[in-house]
Amino acid sequence: MKRTIIFFLLFTISCTQNDPKFGDLRKLMIKNQLRSRGISNEGVLKVMHSVERHKFVPENYQDRAYSDGPLPIGYGQTISQPYIVAYMTEQLQVSSQHKVLEIGTGSGYQAAILGELAKHVFTIEIIPELAERAKNIINHLGYNNITVREGDGYKGWPEEGPFERIIVTAAPTDVPQTLVDQLAPGGRMILPVGEQFFVQYLWVIEKDNQEVVTKEKILPVRFVPMVKE
Ligand code: SAH
Repeated sequence: MKRTIIFFLLFTISCTQNDPKFGDLRKLMIKNQLRSRGISNEGVLKVMHSVERHKFVPENYQDRAYSDGPLPIGYGQTISQPYIVAYMTEQLQVSSQHKVLEIGTGSGYQAAILGELAKHVFTIEIIPELAERAKNIINHLGYNNITVREGDGYKGWPEEGPFERIIVTAAPTDVPQTLVDQLAPGGRMILPVGEQFFVQYLWVIEKDNQEVVTKEKILPVRFVPMVKE
């Protein structure tokens, strides 16, 4: 009897982990949510297909992991809509030589997507429980090029900077100068900027080799606020 229960449990776990239906849902997500809206970078599409988003969302939302929207991850926070993750990743133009800084680890999903493309990802989360959870998932999935730490993203990660790429996934009301300072010459940063409940925009910030900084607004978005400690 005990053996049957254990077998049943293992079977259930392996089904939720490797259920082929999730693979099919990811294929549909690529076609209907990403390609159809103009995501065309094959490297980005490939990792959006290979990274299992359902492993980053709370169990009761797994069936909706590939739906076209953000999902709650607890503590009043959300995992971003797949399209926004793909769009920001494409705009970031990440290569395997890059050291990337992410502010707002949340579920760890965006970090995993970046971990597939970059040399190393450093990611900071202000809510200790989320940082811990993301760290566990990322370790469990075997990423050894992603470092998660609990802390305040406004300070960046000066010990590891400068970074060729910076991505912020919570919205400050202004571009944080500390992060611009930690951007390497020739670097690129993407972040949402604006007040909560008002129109926010994604901005792309570039720093050229002479350290001249330019800013461009690219898309209206809605993100949770980047909170001050
Ligand atoms: N990139 C995440 C989604 C982020 S939601 C994912 O893939 O799931 C935004 C996250 O930013 C939240 O978890 C929130 O707690 C975090 N956050 C907000 N202000 C922050 C700050 N000042 N420093 C670090 N993280 C912050």
